[in-house]
Amino acid sequence: MNMDRERIEYLRKELDRLNYEYYVLNSPAVDDFSYDSLMNELVELEKLYPELQSSESPTQRVGSDIVKEFAQVKHRYPMLSLSNTYSREEIEDFDLRIKKDTGIQNVEYVCELKFDGTAIGLTYRNGVLAQALTRGDGEQGDDVTANVRTIRSIPLRLTGDDYPAEFEIRGEIFMPLASFERLNREREEKNQPLFANPRNAAAGTLKMQDSAEVAKRGLDCFLYFILGDSLPCDNHYDNMQKAFSWGFKISPQMVKCNSIDEIAEFLTRWDTERKNLPYDTDGAVVKVNSLALQNEMGLRSKSPRWAVAYKFRAEQAYTPLLSIDYQVGRTGAVTPVANLQPVQLAGTVVKRASLHNVEQIELHDIRIGDTVIVEKGGEIIPKIVGVDKSRRPDGCKPLIYAEFCPVCGTKLVKPQGEAKHYCPNDAGCPPQILGKIEHFVSRKAMNIDGIGEETVDMMFEKGLIKNIADLYDLKKEQIVNLERMGSRSADNILEGLEKSKEAPFARVLYALGIRYVGETTAKKIAAAFSSIDDIKNASIDKLMQVDEVGERIAQSLTAYFADSQNLEIIERLKAAGLNFMSDSNGMELLSDRLLGKHIVISGNFSRPRDEMKKLVELHGGKNVSGVTSNTDYLIAGDKIGPAKLQKAEKLGTKIIDEQEFLSIIN
Ligand code: NAD
Repeated sequence: MNMDRERIEYLRKELDRLNYEYYVLNSPAVDDFSYDSLMNELVELEKLYPELQSSESPTQRVGSDIVKEFAQVKHRYPMLSLSNTYSREEIEDFDLRIKKDTGIQNVEYVCELKFDGTAIGLTYRNGVLAQALTRGDGEQGDDVTANVRTIRSIPLRLTGDDYPAEFEIRGEIFMPLASFERLNREREEKNQPLFANPRNAAAGTLKMQDSAEVAKRGLDCFLYFILGDSLPCDNHYDNMQKAFSWGFKISPQMVKCNSIDEIAEFLTRWDTERKNLPYDTDGAVVKVNSLALQNEMGLRSKSPRWAVAYKFRAEQAYTPLLSIDYQVGRTGAVTPVANLQPVQLAGTVVKRASLHNVEQIELHDIRIGDTVIVEKGGEIIPKIVGVDKSRRPDGCKPLIYAEFCPVCGTKLVKPQGEAKHYCPNDAGCPPQILGKIEHFVSRKAMNIDGIGEETVDMMFEKGLIKNIADLYDLKKEQIVNLERMGSRSADNILEGLEKSKEAPFARVLYALGIRYVGETTAKKIAAAFSSIDDIKNASIDKLMQVDEVGERIAQSLTAYFADSQNLEIIERLKAAGLNFMSDSNGMELLSDRLLGKHIVISGNFSRPRDEMKKLVELHGGKNVSGVTSNTDYLIAGDKIGPAKLQKAEKLGTKIIDEQEFLSIIN
């Protein structure tokens, strides 16, 4: 019981975290299959211990997509999820339950495809689009009206004259496959992180601050449900046809079904035909057609009782496993990659699949020569989900996992409590060296313009750089001599390097690529110490006093500073002019609301200018004198010089007054 109680708590926490990453950050940490199995485990455990049930549990709540940049508005009608089914039997159960609960035998259903995007609720008043809300937590959502107005298939004004004076219509905003591919190609060129799938791209785009950018991304929308007090018809299907006549884009595949056989036919047909559609679908939705019956059935906490989703199974293929490659990443983590006999799967030929780690291999007892089951779900990278043991050839031996680094030959280690093996030779193993440099120059780290992965590779190959400190010794002649590198590009790189010297300490700390020190952790550590030397000299206990720093991170920091090569690199970077002093200069910060922000103060204020500057520092910001593209805010007081204002306007720098400044920090 105690262990189960702990497991329930663990699962709730973990699912809350995954929901946040999925719905708010639009960057799922695990695939849907793993998420769904954790959720199912929690559902089962909660059934076993009803006394531990809680309305706060992720099983009872719709995952929230709320972000603080948008105004939150309460939904007039709750905006829920759908319960999932995976088999014909479960659909039959759904049908039986409806018939039992309503006492009606001839229930009519509507079958539609389940579009894989992000839900939206649109309110129209007198035929004009008045408001667009995301699902949020089901109770209230983010007001994204400005962004939704840029989606061409959503009418701003309706046609016809028989629409209700006020109603809400719900649908799914999605990114067509062609737009998704174009977007990711552009992001790849700009060295920006790619979206995992069209769903995340659609959800991420809808939450952008810049509507002009949203307009360029090619979002689209199918509307699938209408709500209001005076709807024209008494059933879902006819209301949707009306909506079509008013100018809405509705599901072209929608059909009425009067029996389980008809529903099954729809599901079978679209499981294949959906692959030819220019957008992603992850299932079908079966809805009770009559609004009166819908009302009678009502809602559960997370989903309506009158509708159910049927998830299409991820496609699978069987193919022999030929060999395993071991890839070494930036952190030295080793990922086994399966080389497969090429096989057709979901429209592409699959030759390689990720195996994740040794535990995954042991779990399925995967052996070379085995026929493995490969699956491709919503994710782009196919994975191996099992082995067909009946086809195992005689004499096929259990796999012996790599013992040495495939690149540098160092003996691999597997830290306690981790699933992955690592190559510990971080200073001498080429992919780790390259990875460290690529991380250092990347956008979230030092953001050095002009140096992408390819340039780093070339510079390393030509012997120009062996570590991050070498970057600051580069000379123009050396860069110009590289392939496809003109004088302009060389200048651009040198300028980028120069500009990086202004980066705040937290970024520099993150850019060093210390294991487990991510962006947020780096910010917290940088705010808690006055300089890199302070961190270097801190004991494990002192490090662990920093918010979010546990033993693992503290040990990783200590190990990093115990290595004389790292210390030498830091000394060289210091000499080059990088910022290794905390912006707070060791003073206790009142908050980190301005952490890493560059701020220009100009004009007269109600308090002395020095006091304003002090406030900037106390909240983690850095005072700078001139407006540049690096400036985050210009705080404009009375009698501010017109030149500064013009420059800020030209560069798109945020201009705020004293009141707005105070509301940011308080
Ligand atoms: P869902 O996507 O399974 O289904 C509900 C949604 O379907 C509705 O909100 C609606 O937006 C949409 N929909 C599309 N077409 C529709 C139609 N014709 N009629 C009605 N609705 C339609 O539910 P969800 O709550 O958005 O997401 C849950 C799923 O998301 C999980 O099962 C999991 O697979 C995935 N997830 C993954 C992670 C992760 O970390 N990988 C995290 C959270 C959720």
